[in-house]
Amino acid sequence: MAHMRIIKGTPVAPGLALGPVHVVRAAPHVVPTWTVPEEDVAREIARLHAAVDAASEELRRRQKLVAQHAGERDAEIFAVHRMLLSDPGTVKKVEATVREQRINAEAAVQGLIEDFKRRLGKLEGESVRDFAADFSAPWQTVLESLMQTERALMGSTDEQVVLAAAELTPQVVTFLERKRILAVVTETGGRFSHGAVLARSFGIPCVVGVPNLLARLEQGLRISVDGDKGTVQLKPDQEDVDRFLERLERRRARQKVLAIDAAQPSITPDGHALPVGCNIESLRDFDTFDLTHTDGVGLLRTEFLYMERPHFPSEEEQYRLYRRVLERMDGRPVTLRTLDIGNDKQLPYFKTPKENNPALGWRGLRISIEWQDLLRVQLRAALRAAAHGELRLLLPMVTSIEEIRTVRRVYEDVRRQLTDQGFEIPAHVPLGIMIEVPACVLQLPTMIREVDFVSVGTNDLVQYLLAADRDNPWVSRLYDPYHPAVLLALEQVARVANAAKKPSSVCGEMAGDYATALLLMGLGYSTLSVAPNFLHEVKYAVRRTTLSEAQSLALEACRQDTSENVRALLAAMRERLHQRLLEVHDVNAALSASDTSANSKKRES
Ligand code: PEP
Ligand code: MG
Repeated sequence: MAHMRIIKGTPVAPGLALGPVHVVRAAPHVVPTWTVPEEDVAREIARLHAAVDAASEELRRRQKLVAQHAGERDAEIFAVHRMLLSDPGTVKKVEATVREQRINAEAAVQGLIEDFKRRLGKLEGESVRDFAADFSAPWQTVLESLMQTERALMGSTDEQVVLAAAELTPQVVTFLERKRILAVVTETGGRFSHGAVLARSFGIPCVVGVPNLLARLEQGLRISVDGDKGTVQLKPDQEDVDRFLERLERRRARQKVLAIDAAQPSITPDGHALPVGCNIESLRDFDTFDLTHTDGVGLLRTEFLYMERPHFPSEEEQYRLYRRVLERMDGRPVTLRTLDIGNDKQLPYFKTPKENNPALGWRGLRISIEWQDLLRVQLRAALRAAAHGELRLLLPMVTSIEEIRTVRRVYEDVRRQLTDQGFEIPAHVPLGIMIEVPACVLQLPTMIREVDFVSVGTNDLVQYLLAADRDNPWVSRLYDPYHPAVLLALEQVARVANAAKKPSSVCGEMAGDYATALLLMGLGYSTLSVAPNFLHEVKYAVRRTTLSEAQSLALEACRQDTSENVRALLAAMRERLHQRLLEVHDVNAALSASDTSANSKKRES
């Protein structure tokens, strides 16, 4: 029966996909361990032998290269490495580990390397230890070969695949070029983890929390992924495929309809404007959507710029990038968030201490305050770029008024310094805070006097309010953005900000759900910021709903005592919007109209 092969997981990024699966087994720098099924042990050992041969070949190539450029003597070491690699005893030992422990070749080779290091590291004397290190070096090449073959294999085709992995990490989502990834499915990973944020921002359908996924898959198996419902179907039969294609067609038609008036302003039928900005991580994101469809960048997560480099970006590098973002937005506001590392966002070149509770630890603004040089460089770059557009500065993970004051002091100091150096800085660059820590919600009536605007980071606020880690799959059910306490906090923030006549925004993932976006409009938020992928839906909803309807929705939602009831209200709102879509547009007519206008646009250009 077909439905037996449907596995339920958690939907993370919407969309449908059907195609061959590719199991991503390795993240860079991490040697993965997995259990090899009994029947695959022989194949795993063959992988090991192939990697030993490839490593030996690689060592021969290096030997030749060094001989040509430095001479035979220096090249001799590679011959020794190859000899070590050909020692049948060692190869047999690794084979035995694979067979007896039923683990993958990478893990077995890594075990051998660690064993060498443990035993030989105890030897006395520098040169003896150096010699000892040479024992494990050729095996390091075998390990690299094992880990690379997978990527190289994938690099040699153009095939589009569904990526499957144990955990949803940013590495998995960027394993291949965007256009080759049909979908991502994983065994674990939070809905609001950074891997999930990336999947949504790239528009890659994604389902997490699929139990025993890897054990049920083999490379190339055809699967379908439903990122709307959060299901995965293995080996769909023809009937399933037909049904899938029909749904896909309907979904595409709907998206085309939504795109028709995406360039129109985000204003309700009764004239209330709710600007909708987008959340971006890098300039690359600009290629994924039409910039004229957005009201600005509501959240520029600058840490990704730091994460993609082998060292801290210089003031000049940051200045150029921020300036480029401002120029691309052509006068529309750009909210630049200062560095938000720590927890699951680590820099390879900046080691933070190992913490038992990293989400409650050294992260976000706490690091910028401790390492003020980092903050100064970033503020200098940002203020210099501010001359080229509408810049706003946003501070992540704020907990206290003292923190805001400290940043203001640094900010004023940097501004004075730049002015003395002859830079032209706009008279006012607004400074705002993210509301992520519950303390800020409670203290907002006082705190708001210190800032120009606030932006709610619901991804973090929810985890701190409900004491449920956003990245921990074991508590993903408890991480509930529709918990009544979350709505009460959201209501309070909007009310306090409005009373103080300060702009308020929501830039967490909640705002990207179009029914929730209306709820937030009803609560009184002045702007929203969403992943580019959700711009059209959110704008469509705003343009089809009066402010008073949204206010009633918000009022009703805040009266509910369970998240189930809140969800039911939102589901009803979604259904109403769906009906409006069908009423306003004859989908087929709209489709041909959009094709015609797209064609005439093409002709014009
Ligand atoms: C948030 O916490 O809601 C947020 C927008 O920040 P990030 O997801 O980058 O932590
Ligand atoms: Mg956050």
